[in-house]
Amino acid sequence: MTQRIAIIGAGPSGLAQLRAFQSAQAKGAEIPELVCFEKQGDWGGQWNYTWRTGLDENGEPVHGSMYRYLWSNGPKEALEFADYSFDEHFGKPIASYPPREVLWDYIKGRVEKAGVRQYIRFNSPVRNIEFNADSNNFTVTVHDHNKDEVYSEVFDFVVVASGHFSTPNVPQYPGFEHFGGRILHAHDFRDALEFKGKDILVVGSSYSAEDIGSQCYKYGARSITSCYRSKPMGYKWPHNWEEKPAMTHVDVNTVFFADGTSKKIDAIILCTGYLHHFPFLPEELRLKTNNRLWPLNLYKGVVWENNTRLFYLGMQDQWYSFNMFDAQAWYVRDVIMGRIELPALDAMRAHSAEWRERELQLSSDKESYEYQGSYIQDLIDATDYPNFDIPAVNETFLKWKKHKKQDIMTFRDYSFPSIMTGTASPAHHTPWLYALDDSLEAYLSDTPKADEIKRASGQ
Ligand code: FAD
Ligand code: NAP
Repeated sequence: MTQRIAIIGAGPSGLAQLRAFQSAQAKGAEIPELVCFEKQGDWGGQWNYTWRTGLDENGEPVHGSMYRYLWSNGPKEALEFADYSFDEHFGKPIASYPPREVLWDYIKGRVEKAGVRQYIRFNSPVRNIEFNADSNNFTVTVHDHNKDEVYSEVFDFVVVASGHFSTPNVPQYPGFEHFGGRILHAHDFRDALEFKGKDILVVGSSYSAEDIGSQCYKYGARSITSCYRSKPMGYKWPHNWEEKPAMTHVDVNTVFFADGTSKKIDAIILCTGYLHHFPFLPEELRLKTNNRLWPLNLYKGVVWENNTRLFYLGMQDQWYSFNMFDAQAWYVRDVIMGRIELPALDAMRAHSAEWRERELQLSSDKESYEYQGSYIQDLIDATDYPNFDIPAVNETFLKWKKHKKQDIMTFRDYSFPSIMTGTASPAHHTPWLYALDDSLEAYLSDTPKADEIKRASGQ
């Protein structure tokens, strides 16, 4: 009987899984029956922007954490699919830091070409997954919001690709209940124009803090203050951006910091990360981890060691993203199709412990992305995913880090050659700081907009 695979989520990871199976089919293999359940009305995961916050039109927690004017925070050359280049999709070289809509278009292009949309059931959040030990399969319970019907089906394998940057980690600080301005988490941040002319505080020292602060600067906040718990971001900030140690408490309009200083603040944006959250999974199948490079209990970062019919994609912290999800999805496909044989439980655990030990020894960003690169290479070596030059991607990361250190407001103005095709990317027509229109049309246009040229030249 044909085996049935449930894939939870049609973001970049779930779509990579569909593409992996379709690619095997295109080479003549017989593939299992695929069903991908997607909570949202369209595909692309985080890249499918929503203006909504809180609950969606079906009363489900809004998945999207992306916001308007978001541009890629790393060079696109580091995330390019090895089987579908930017050149192929856009038909011309494009600059290295595309806005969200451009990357969404690229993600969609590959799966439209592969013809896998037919496998996806939209508006269909998975509510519950149960393992049936007697029959060695899973019962998956789903809410079909199109029909407002809850139903269950049986599957032989489950792939969890539901993302882990969606459920906000929201700390409490003394005085929050009395604060007179707005307090929000990055998950609910949508439009920097809301903070034009305001004094804002971003809490945290990772990508969301850096990028939301930069957005607010770009779109006219009066001042930006960022505060860190462990270590400062340490960039050279514009004149109206100040970095402070941890916040201790707040009153109605003032925030107090660990160095004894205080500042009047209109809005507090908690850029304090996300929780791995799988409310649809029972205890024995549920991954529990913080955001790190080597979560435990996952052989090769994807196989649930205690039940090897369950897989997780994309659960690591991400230097690499799209092509890492691909390497994982191709590996999972080959385990499911019996092309890769898994070792015994003890050997899988020993393998994971070894990678965790290596992770604990990492002491720099360079070592961290090289580590993730070597993990991806290990996966690719086991499948027919096209091999690509991972040391060259690491070199790209190194340059990217240098550019950021030089100037956090101009690093997106640099361009890199494609590692997949060798094509050089052109410089974008307008420096990032002055490019206010982030639409696909504006980005792909060969000419800058008149008002943006004026702004860039200080007129
Ligand atoms: P997601 O994109 O989160 O997709 C998961 C999918 O699962 C969603 O469609 C969701 O609706 C669905 N789902 C969840 N629960 C259920 C359920 N119970 N039932 C059915 N479906 C469900 N990466 C980069 O490489 N470059 C960037 O510039 C970048 N910027 C980012 C900016 C922000 C603000 C955030 C939050 C993330 C960013 N990322 C970036 C990382 C981003 O998460 C990945 O690029 C990518 O989207 C991860 O893909 P995924 O499929 O694993 O998860
Ligand atoms: P993150 O990388 O997990 O960082 C979480 C931050 O929150 C850390 O600085 C952490 O500090 C801090 N933190 C956690 N709890 C805290 C507390 N109680 N008090 C103070 N600080 C606390 O999460 P993220 O920055 O949201 O990034 C998530 C993902 O989104 C990343 O993949 C990133 O690339 C992506 N992203 C991309 C863009 C873009 O421009 N395209 C923009 C935003 C986000 P410690 O260091 O002390 O733990």
